[in-house]
Amino acid sequence: MQAWTDYQQKNKERFLEELLELLRIPSVSARSEHKDDMLRCAQAVQQKLLEAGADKAEVYTTEGHPVVYGAKIIDPSKPTVLVYGHYDVQPPDPLELWHSGPFDPVIKDGKIFARGACDDKGQVFMHVKALETLTRTNTLPLNIKFIIEGEEEVGSPNLATFVKQNKELLKADVILISDTSMLSLQTPSMDVGVRGLSYIEVEVTGPNRDLHSGTYGGAVANPIVILCNMIASLHDHNNHITIPGFYDDVVVATEEERKLMAEAPFDEAEYKEDLGVKELWGEKGYSTNERTGIRPTLEVNGIWGGYSGEGAKTVLPSKAHAKISCRLVPNQKSDTITTILINHIISIAPPSVDVKVMIHHGGEPYMTPIDSKGFKAASKAIETTFGKHPIPVRGGGSIPICSLFEQELAIKIIFMGFGLDSDNLHSPNEKFNLENYYKGIETIPYFHKYFAEMSEV
Ligand SMILES: [Zn+2]
Repeated sequence: MQAWTDYQQKNKERFLEELLELLRIPSVSARSEHKDDMLRCAQAVQQKLLEAGADKAEVYTTEGHPVVYGAKIIDPSKPTVLVYGHYDVQPPDPLELWHSGPFDPVIKDGKIFARGACDDKGQVFMHVKALETLTRTNTLPLNIKFIIEGEEEVGSPNLATFVKQNKELLKADVILISDTSMLSLQTPSMDVGVRGLSYIEVEVTGPNRDLHSGTYGGAVANPIVILCNMIASLHDHNNHITIPGFYDDVVVATEEERKLMAEAPFDEAEYKEDLGVKELWGEKGYSTNERTGIRPTLEVNGIWGGYSGEGAKTVLPSKAHAKISCRLVPNQKSDTITTILINHIISIAPPSVDVKVMIHHGGEPYMTPIDSKGFKAASKAIETTFGKHPIPVRGGGSIPICSLFEQELAIKIIFMGFGLDSDNLHSPNEKFNLENYYKGIETIPYFHKYFAEMSEV
């Protein structure tokens, strides 16, 4: 569409400036000191939706951070696309590893560096600019609704209530999410599923106070050592998870799917070099792509205890802590896995320590059918602007709200992500390639066009 290209070319600079403005707001949902920034960011998204041509955009308060809802309804008899995204971001720590301020976006080597550049402000904003392109060129072929939340990075604790209370408002024919990545601009891909999540925190307590390691060491169990032993026992020598029942509900991928996955280009040497590791690690019998897509995993996200300040302190600590999370695949259930994980952790603790477990957020795995109108429209849109058919892949990450949408709204979800795995999501120096950003803005209007056309027949 020449009109779209012309409009986007003419406004290219502004599309970037406006995104940078949004990236300057430190909307860290996990930190209470950013409460005001969260509201400010929600209002900025609301404002941008209105400027893009939405006839309605509102900030809804919740018990946590606000949800932004926006809509442009041209004709209720036409199909409706609901765009979901999030304006909150992960904490930027560790700050010293950033080359520039996480909330002071800079453009370097064709990339936008900032927390949220890709996850998910950059990707949400592509949708806002796609809406603007369609309204300004008078080519909007269907109704578009937006639900942009502020608690995705903390497990969306209040979204379920909002969705349940606003089913009519959120009514749509398909949900479109850009919060995933593609293999590369040369090899576009689309996620057909995301993994679920189960997350716990473990506290191991030994003696009732920190002890002198000379006086008591060797006679009293050290909770850090105990915790390390417990964690080490969670994988066997084949890197298979040892928790009884953990794999019981896993749907084994078909040979056909494994064959398709193997066709996605993957350069192991490049992968290792990018990560700075000499060797890869993982469950025996599976390829790297399978390990991060079709298999469940268990990771230790953090471990602490005792003395970690400057210099030496000879202490036998009273407590040790760890955060442990599992990524789940169809048909594992988050609650079930959390329960067996907790039971197992408690059962392997020796009597020399006490163990307390706290549950953090969870989420269910989700798969989208590849024969739906939405998937076909997205696939065709990518083919139009990339010149290549996207490869269907299973994403390794989790978007816990997917099963909520499915359950409450009964609408299928399409993942059309434009980020790259190398975008450093949740890490220092998060970035989004300018080319990906603009490619997203270019592609999304085609999704709406094709989805409208395919809905007519
Ligand atoms: Zn995200």
